Amino acid sequence: MTEKFDVVIIGAGISGLYQLHKLRKLGLSVRVYEAGDGVGGTWYWNRYPGARFDSESYSYQYAFSQELLDEWNWSEHFAAQPETLRYVNFVADKLDLRRDVRFSTYIAGASFDEKTKRWTVRTETGELAESKFLITAIGPLSVPTMPNIEGVDDFNGDAFHTGYWPQHDVKFEGRRVAVIGTGATGVQLIQEVAKTAGTLTVFQRNPNWCAPLHNSPIDDVEQPAIHARYAEVFELCRNSHGAFMHTSDTRNALDLSKDERDAVYEKLYGEPGFGIWMGNFRDLFVDEQANATLSEFVANKIRERVDNPAVAEKLIPTNHGFGLRRVPMETNYYEVYNQDNVRLIDLGETPIERINATGIQTSEENLPFDMIIYATGFDAVVGGFNRLDIRGVNGQTLNDKWARGPRTHLGMQVSGFPNLFTLVGPHNAASFCNIPRCIEQNVEWVSDLVAYMTSRGLETVDATVEAEDEWTEHVYQSADRMLLTKVDSWFNGINSNIPGRQERNFLLYAGGAPAYRERCDAVATSGYSGMTFE
Ligand code: NAP
Repeated sequence: MTEKFDVVIIGAGISGLYQLHKLRKLGLSVRVYEAGDGVGGTWYWNRYPGARFDSESYSYQYAFSQELLDEWNWSEHFAAQPETLRYVNFVADKLDLRRDVRFSTYIAGASFDEKTKRWTVRTETGELAESKFLITAIGPLSVPTMPNIEGVDDFNGDAFHTGYWPQHDVKFEGRRVAVIGTGATGVQLIQEVAKTAGTLTVFQRNPNWCAPLHNSPIDDVEQPAIHARYAEVFELCRNSHGAFMHTSDTRNALDLSKDERDAVYEKLYGEPGFGIWMGNFRDLFVDEQANATLSEFVANKIRERVDNPAVAEKLIPTNHGFGLRRVPMETNYYEVYNQDNVRLIDLGETPIERINATGIQTSEENLPFDMIIYATGFDAVVGGFNRLDIRGVNGQTLNDKWARGPRTHLGMQVSGFPNLFTLVGPHNAASFCNIPRCIEQNVEWVSDLVAYMTSRGLETVDATVEAEDEWTEHVYQSADRMLLTKVDSWFNGINSNIPGRQERNFLLYAGGAPAYRERCDAVATSGYSGMTFE
């Protein structure tokens, strides 16, 4: 039997849940399909030890409901994953969202029928659902990738990818643990595992520039003061490039003397959160010389914090400047390498040859382990779409359409795929953002468009090819000057573990959240220019 809904949403994370709530309020019937057995998306899957916010907790939460804001208290300035997952569950309960979510259900694909103007959505077990609108809320980092190292399946000990961390407690006491990967995930995990592991061996291919998080608890005195500032917090986010509580310094680093510059860097390095990245001089991200001043400052911090000078040098990136990849936030990460139980292996000097039944064989030695943890990242932004078989007009698949890189209108529509909306999709400001802030914008924009159509009895909406071309061109143009497009990272679609993903292809929108919002608003107030309705 094919169930029928007004809307099908794929994913019950932060974006899917809010989208469900908004559309239900419009009186529409909605079904959400979710692969996990609970809500939370990224916070459901990424339960590895050390996982926590890098955004101030209160800036990350939903802002749309005063009741939710009033009833929830964060216990830390940067909350850990269990608390965030509790928060998402609190929201789901409060808004009674679960009744419209089908859990433990993977979607295999969806196709648009031009005669009926309806999407048919197929689960992996062959169940079918029909809907007028199809909304993907699948997250930009939801497809973990294992390393393409020979013998990954041969290891007999415990092996985990951070993005599929088990729900049971994993103990490290007395165990010989290997971690592969030193991105934002690896850095959070390493500093936690190092506390109890018998031995921890970190396999690092490229170091990243990390900065101190300076997390702290929120006590009963500070709690009401933070609540009283919510309007200000969200206003700060609204006006900041990445929708964080940190707005960039409008001065140029190179216009200041070294002492003046370093004083700013010192202050930001000592402050909580992303200030050193998001609240810093603007030219750092477009001018290599300016960027080098910050890189040198942070390199010296690493040298101060790591006792062994040779190890410190291995931890300092040399192939990219500070902030040109996602900055991992840390708490005593560098000090971990001063511990006797921790060893850093630089894969540039000593590559892994293979993984075997007992551990990892490098070019120099065979290292036995009880556990290998893969913090090797994700098939970012497009990965979630690639594994769905989505077919639009004339049976065209999304995979074919995006074979040479995504093409979208505002990162939310794809020409030839009517009534499909891609929340936090490719070329959308939301994946380069304090994500719930931009998610709320995405969801509200889509909801307004759905309401517009419903009130006018319109059956379908599709972006025109011209509007799509224009947006895609704008996305690349606005990223063009930015140094981060010249560096290998998931921002640019690079994933060494996936064949064909070695060419840089910018997947985000770097024009900033305020500019993006203004653009989306202008499209809406113009009566949805760049779209055709039936
Ligand atoms: P990532 O940034 O892509 O890092 C993956 C790491 O694995 C890199 O160090 C990479 O080395 C290494 N690696 C991959 N394949 C390898 C191989 N075959 N051999 C050896 N090393 C290999 O992934 P991530 O750390 O999971 O972070 C992804 C994103 O998730 C972050 O950028 C961030 O946006 C998000 N995140 C957010 C939070 C938060 O908000 N609190 C926390 C964690 C993650 P190379 O550098 O050499 O490629």
